[in-house]
Amino acid sequence: MQKSYDYIILGAGCAGLSLLMRMIDSGQFADKRILLIDKEPKTKNDRTWCFWEKEKGFFEKIVYRKWDGLVFRSDNYSSLLDIAPYKYKMIQGIDFYNYCFSEINKQENVDVIYDEIKSFDASVIQLANQSIKTGDAIVFNSLYQTAEKKMDKFYLLQHFKGWIIETKKNSFNPGVATLMDFRVHQDYGTTFVYTLPLNERAALVEYTLFTESLLNDQQYEEELKIYVKEFLKIDAFKVIDEEFGVIPMTNEQYSFYANGVYNTGTAGGQTKPSTGYTFQFIQKQVKAIVDALINKRNLSSLRFSPKRFQFYDSTLLHLLAKGELSGKEIFTRMFKKNKAEQVFKFLDNETSLSEEIKIMSTLQIGTFFKAGVKEFLK
Ligand SMILES: Cc1cc2nc3c(=O)[nH]c(=O)nc-3n(C[C@H](O)[C@H](O)[C@H](O)COP(=O)(O)OP(=O)(O)OC[C@H]3O[C@@H](n4cnc5c(N)ncnc54)[C@H](O)[C@@H]3O)c2cc1C
Repeated sequence: MQKSYDYIILGAGCAGLSLLMRMIDSGQFADKRILLIDKEPKTKNDRTWCFWEKEKGFFEKIVYRKWDGLVFRSDNYSSLLDIAPYKYKMIQGIDFYNYCFSEINKQENVDVIYDEIKSFDASVIQLANQSIKTGDAIVFNSLYQTAEKKMDKFYLLQHFKGWIIETKKNSFNPGVATLMDFRVHQDYGTTFVYTLPLNERAALVEYTLFTESLLNDQQYEEELKIYVKEFLKIDAFKVIDEEFGVIPMTNEQYSFYANGVYNTGTAGGQTKPSTGYTFQFIQKQVKAIVDALINKRNLSSLRFSPKRFQFYDSTLLHLLAKGELSGKEIFTRMFKKNKAEQVFKFLDNETSLSEEIKIMSTLQIGTFFKAGVKEFLK
C-alpha cells in the first residue's frame, strides 16, 4: 500500500530544498511525513547564486565568496558603490545541494524519489514509473512551466554565459566585484558583464543580456573574449569552468496558489521580472510558508510582496521590451542618483511608497510615466 504524506514537495532545486530545510530547521515537522520528488539526484554544479544581504542568512555556512565593495560601470559613470549594510554573496549550486541533502538524508520522516514528474494536480502525481495519490497532503510545486504568450504581457529572457577564468599573474581584487559593466556594445539590446573575483587570479566573468531571444554559443564566447581582453586587459587566461543560464523576465502572473497546489520559486512568481534575481525572494517566500504552517495560518492568503511592485516591474519591462529606454540608461541613472542601499531595498520590493517616489523622481520621469499609464490601463 502507498504511504501517506503530510507534505509533498515537487522539485529539489532552490525553492524545494529551501522550503524543506526551513521545515527541518524549525523542528516542528519531525512527526510529519514529507515526500520530495525530483527527476534526478542533484550532483552537478549547475548554477551559482548571487544576491545581496544585510545580515547572516539561512545559508550563511555555504556562502562561497562575499564582497563588501561593488563596482558599477557605464560610459560616463563608474563608481565603487558603498553597499553597506549589504554584502554581495555567492553560493555555488553544488555546495547548496550537498549541504541540503546532508541534512535531508538524516531525516527519517523524509522520503526522496528520483523520477520524472509527467503531470500533477492536487490529487495525483504522475511519475514516469509510478503514480502517487496525494491524499490529504499539501502539495508544493517548483516545476516551472512556460505559459502560452499573451498579447498584453512581456516575455524577455535574461540569458548569460559565464567563464571562470584563471590567470598566471594577479589580475583581480578579491574584495571588489563588478555588479554591472554596461560599457560593452548594446547592439543586441540591454547587455552588461559582471565580474566576480574568486581570488587574485580567478574570476567568474558573465556576459548577460535582457532580450527576447538567445545568442548562439559562439556569439557569447566571442563577446566574452573581447571583454576579457579589452575591458579587463587580460591577454593570457585559461577557462576552467563555464555557466550558461536563462531566467524568464515576464509580467505573466505565476500565482502562489492554483488548483489546490502551492507554487514556489520561479514557478510561484518569485523571479523578479525586471532583474531576474530570485534567490532571496525564494528565501522570503519559504520562510513565510513555514511560519504560516507552524502558526496554522491559511496558506492561500499569503502575499509575498506589495502589489505595486508588480506595476513597477511591468513598467520597467514595458520600457525594455519596447526599446523606449535601455537597461543601460535605466540602471546607470538609478545607481548614479541613488544610494546603492536604497536601490537594493527597492529591487528587493522592500521600500516604502515615499522612498519609491524619491527613486522614481531620479529616473527619466516622463518616459516612465507614459509607460506606467499604459501598464496601469491594462
Ligand atoms: C544558471 C543560473 C544562474 C542563476 N543565478 C542566479 C543568481 O545569481 N541570483 C538569483 O537570485 N537567481 C539566479 N538564478 C535564478 C533562480 O535563482 C534559479 O533559477 C533558481 O534555481 C530557481 O529556483 P527554483 O526552485 O524555482 O527552480 P530550480 O532550482 O530550477 O528547481 C526546479 C527543480 O525541479 C526539477 N524538475 C524540473 N522538471 C522536473 C520534472 N518534470 N520532473 C521532476 N523534477 C523536475 C529540477 O530538476 C529542479 O531540481 C539563476 C538561474 C540559473 C538557471
